[in-house]
Amino acid sequence: MIVAQQKPLEEIRHMVAGFRRLLVLGCGTCATVCFAGGEKEVSLLATALRAALGKDVAVEEATVQRQCEWEFLDQVRAGVGWADAVLSLGCGVGVQAVAERYPGVVSLPGLNTKFVGLTEAPGTWSERCLACGDCLLDRTGGICPIARCSKSLLNGPCGGAQDGHCEISPDIPCAWVLIHERLTRLGRTDLLEEIIPARDWRPSHAGGPRRVVRPDLRVLAEQEV
Ligand code: SF4
Ligand code: SF4
Repeated sequence: MIVAQQKPLEEIRHMVAGFRRLLVLGCGTCATVCFAGGEKEVSLLATALRAALGKDVAVEEATVQRQCEWEFLDQVRAGVGWADAVLSLGCGVGVQAVAERYPGVVSLPGLNTKFVGLTEAPGTWSERCLACGDCLLDRTGGICPIARCSKSLLNGPCGGAQDGHCEISPDIPCAWVLIHERLTRLGRTDLLEEIIPARDWRPSHAGGPRRVVRPDLRVLAEQEV
C-alpha cells in the first residue's frame, strides 16, 4: 500500500489560511490502513481545525472509498462544489485527482506521502518497493535490493554492513544479508552466482512519467458504452 503521514497541524493551518469553506476529504483505502487519512483522522483533524480557525471558517468532512478513482470522487461533487478548498487526506495521487476532477477548487495536501510499503507491526510501516517497472524479485528471494538496499545495489553487498545491518543505520537490516539468508534457506544460493546485468532504468521513473495502457480493457469499455 501507499504509506503516508499527516502533516503537522501548524503546517496545515498555514496552508488553509484565507479559505472560508474547507472540506477535509479522507480516503478509505491506503490512507485509512496506515491511520493517516481515514474517517477517524478526518474527524479528528476537522475538529482541531474548527477549534484553531474559529467560527469564520466552516469546516466540513467527508471520506470516499478511494480518492484515486473518478467514480468515488464524483460522490462528493456537492461537497467539493460548496468548498473553496479541499484538504485531501489521501496520498499525493488523491490530491492531484481532486485537482484534476474539480479544476475550480483548490486542492491541498494534508498528508506527506512516504512510500510503497507494508505494516511490519502495529504502528510501524516500512518501505518495500520503488515501483521500478521491471521487477527482479525472482532473482533475490523475494527481497527487493532496489528499495531495501540504501545504495540499490544489484549484485551483493557493499561491504559496509555491520552485524547484519546497513552501514547507514543500525536500525536498517542490510538487504543483501537478508537476501543471502533467504536464498540459503531456499537452497537457491546459485542465483547469487548469476550477475544481474546493468539495468535499463527507462521503465522506472528515470524514463519520465509513466503510463500503463491495456488495449483489451479499452476495447471492452468502449463496447459497454
Ligand atoms: S524490483 Fe522493482 S518492482 Fe520489484 S519490488 Fe523492487 S522496486 Fe518494486
Ligand atoms: S550495507 Fe547492505 S543495505 Fe546498506 S548499502 Fe551496503 S549492501 Fe546496501
